[in-house]
Amino acid sequence: MIASNDRYDIARIRRDFPILDREVHGRPLVYLDNAATSQKPRAVIDTELRYYRTMNANIHRGVHLLSQEATDAYEASRERVRRFLNAARREEIVFVRGATEAINLVAASYGQRLKSGDEVLITAMEHHSNIVPWQLLCERSGAVLRVASINDAGELNLTSFEHLLGPRTRIAAFTHISNALGTINPVRELIEMAHANGAVVLVDGAQAAPHARVDVQALDCDFYVFSGHKLYGPTGIGALYGKARLLDAMPPWQGGGDMIREVSFNKSTWNDLPYKFEAGTPNIAGGVALSAAIDYVEDIGLDAIAGHENDLLIRANERAADFPGLRPIGTAKDKAGIFSFVLDGVHPHDIGTILDLEGVAVRTGHHCAMPVMGRFGVPATVRASFGLYNTRDEVDALFAALRRVKEVFA
Ligand code: PLP
Repeated sequence: MIASNDRYDIARIRRDFPILDREVHGRPLVYLDNAATSQKPRAVIDTELRYYRTMNANIHRGVHLLSQEATDAYEASRERVRRFLNAARREEIVFVRGATEAINLVAASYGQRLKSGDEVLITAMEHHSNIVPWQLLCERSGAVLRVASINDAGELNLTSFEHLLGPRTRIAAFTHISNALGTINPVRELIEMAHANGAVVLVDGAQAAPHARVDVQALDCDFYVFSGHKLYGPTGIGALYGKARLLDAMPPWQGGGDMIREVSFNKSTWNDLPYKFEAGTPNIAGGVALSAAIDYVEDIGLDAIAGHENDLLIRANERAADFPGLRPIGTAKDKAGIFSFVLDGVHPHDIGTILDLEGVAVRTGHHCAMPVMGRFGVPATVRASFGLYNTRDEVDALFAALRRVKEVFA
């Protein structure tokens, strides 16, 4: 039976996701890999289908009706993202492939002003996407990468962060919610600390956008990035928010169509924001369908979603407390619905394989956060990550399948 209450109609929500009806290995699918990517509601699938069926054309350049309709839909989606993040201006929303591309854009473009001896500050809980672009920048510029430490619960050591912020820190980049640990960072406080030291701040919102209300003006971050596919939207589309003042002063990072005003062999000039950063034909259908995903989550309400997922996390913690040999990795006080763990004597990959045969889809491995694994002294973890459509029964199914793992490895 699916748990439901008046305010959060989980049965209705689940009916919106066609894939949840399928079976894997002859068992009902229990999809607990939402931190990697989430499933798509019918509204998103239908929007993308409708786009291709009725208005597909290239945008911004055509005078014909289809091109105008496609352009309007794409630009309406930009406005939708602006409202979602509460950015002040639509020019501050740059469409990208996802969080990874957004961080690379900032590192490549804003990063051009960094010089030898400057510093970039990140944290020990970052996804590789928020580590490697900065490493590449440091290699190019001679800047130095500093890393603030985390404690045994997987919380950021604020004293370490503050200590490493100095007069040479140009950029502070940190995750809003850790994908490997579930830790929710006190981003407002971190942003204030970084700004007090004169650094610009990039917040990696890949895990936060689907679970928390984001207000970039209230946060006062300089850059905020997220991926559509973790927000119940399409793959290959995401957004970079940047303060107009900063984006304006930044050079383009890729050249091509749409990002120029005029081109000659002597010199080219750049288009206005945000197009200066959008070279080439984008993922138009994905952009259009992203707005359907945002409508979907906002209809349910991000607070309601966070509350529901927290309920599932509590259930998982209760079940884990009396499960022999299970060690949770990431026990921060402020945590999103990500439940990472190891089991004595069984490799996470073996656990994942057996869970899959039981119909339970989880992620096993380093979760693109190898330094986090190193910090906790494990090669990998099993990660169950909850989404808005998961149920308490599915958490119980996870633990029933884990008991099966125990039997196999007894
Ligand atoms: N940052 C975090 C915290 C993530 O969890 C992920 C993906 O798992 C990324 C960045 C990269 O996102 P994408 O692969 O969609 O670019």
